[in-house]
Amino acid sequence: MSIPALYSYLKRVCKEFLMNEWNSFWKNSTTGKHTKENLPLENLDLLISNKNVIYLLTNHLPFPAYLCRFKILNNPDCLCGEHGDVDHYLTSCMYTKDYHLLQPAVAARTHWTRKLCKNYSFLNRLKSICEISRKICDDLLRL
Ligand SMILES: [Zn+2]
Repeated sequence: MSIPALYSYLKRVCKEFLMNEWNSFWKNSTTGKHTKENLPLENLDLLISNKNVIYLLTNHLPFPAYLCRFKILNNPDCLCGEHGDVDHYLTSCMYTKDYHLLQPAVAARTHWTRKLCKNYSFLNRLKSICEISRKICDDLLRL
């Protein structure tokens, strides 16, 4: 006669297995450089469902540098003339200056990211930055 495993035990074993698989994939992956700068290790606390935070962490849409990478735009620069990536819109673009953030040193980025992902004020500022960036991309596409 076999004794069935407890549900909580199976859940813990599955979670550990999946975390190890995820961590191994994350460490060996050669893509996602910008994301790894912010999140060097996987962490279940940072599972994110906010699309704007995902834009921030991955440096993907709606930024001119990203659209240029996929040949949607001919130039990766913002309307202001600087390189149009996520860091530009967060810290130096004149069009998003009302929402700028002070970015931390590289060593503190994971802690910074963890704090920001749960801060409603930041999430609203990030949403505004993404809306402005999207409008800039629309304007650049019309040029
Ligand atoms: Zn700009």
